[in-house]
Amino acid sequence: METEKMRDIKSYTLEELKEEMEAMGEKAFRAKQLYEWMHKKQAAGYEEMTNIPKTLIDRCREKYDYTLLKPIRVQQSRVDGTRKYLFELADGNMVESVWMQYKHGNSVCISSQVGCRMGCKFCASTIDGLERNLLPSEMLDQIYAIIRHTGERVANVVVMGSGEPMDNYDNLLKFIALLTDENGLHISQRNVTVSTCGIVPKMRALAEKGLQITLAISLHAATDEKRRQLMPIADRYSLDEVMKACAYYFEKTGRRITYEYSLVKGVNDTDEDADRLIGRLGRQNCHVNLIPVNPVKERSYVQSDRRAVEAFKNKLEKNGINVTIRREMGRDIDGACGQLRRRYMERQPAL
Ligand code: SAH
Repeated sequence: METEKMRDIKSYTLEELKEEMEAMGEKAFRAKQLYEWMHKKQAAGYEEMTNIPKTLIDRCREKYDYTLLKPIRVQQSRVDGTRKYLFELADGNMVESVWMQYKHGNSVCISSQVGCRMGCKFCASTIDGLERNLLPSEMLDQIYAIIRHTGERVANVVVMGSGEPMDNYDNLLKFIALLTDENGLHISQRNVTVSTCGIVPKMRALAEKGLQITLAISLHAATDEKRRQLMPIADRYSLDEVMKACAYYFEKTGRRITYEYSLVKGVNDTDEDADRLIGRLGRQNCHVNLIPVNPVKERSYVQSDRRAVEAFKNKLEKNGINVTIRREMGRDIDGACGQLRRRYMERQPAL
């Protein structure tokens, strides 16, 4: 059972916070003040909330947890200015987040879980399995901490860091509601992307919500056989099922799907692989994001060479598919998912 002290004030919607205040015999407008301190001004704690009476602050301190991330490391790329943050959560776990600058605005890439249980063969986040889900507040906190650190606005949020967001579905939905709320950071739904390895029932459930967020699917192969070699989730859901769920998402939301395809030398980057992918995608309105695989120390996968990447891209384009090659941001700073956390933990003595 939830103990009183475990209530997480930063994960409440404004409506829920109003109910909390009313239940405490406080005025409803206090909820809005608290909410704005947390979500609009990214307050680091109650002590910053200067227009709230001390008695109420004391009651809140007693009743609610106030999550806050502690920055442990910040690495800035000399190549492109990308910054990678390693944060410590209240329980000592670590998560990483990335800040990227693009022409169309700044993007933050956040983690949705500590570790991951999806087991993708090329990914560093999953090596030690899942530690725990992140709370909605802990997903928001990654963005808030980065805003405080950079002093800059954030235009886009991508849930593409460590973890599988669809494996933390309820908290993900709450996070999106808070992130896009006009009383908070008010990021447009269209500027939010959620990336999944393809948990079909959750993709369908998300489609039903009719949100305007972008759904990105980690495809990485165009046949079930090859996909199974890279991603254990492919044993659960076939590519046919994944593609049908994508079509359903498009039908319900009108948002075109992004397909992520990490190119691994000699595994999924041949001419034949490109043909198969073209066959799979058919004539749907979509976007393909090619990611030259980021080599992970613990894994033996090798990045496709430049020519293979270009040839793959050209072939897709000739067939009328929108395709971009992911800019390799921050390669000099442990850019691949989960690598900074792993390296940091390796250096720490075991408890
Ligand atoms: N669990 C979600 C989101 C996290 S990873 C998902 O699977 O989509 C974000 C993207 O980076 C995914 O497409 C993932 O497959 C890919 N990725 C993970 N490790 C990688 C690596 N070492 N090189 C290239 N892409 C990688």
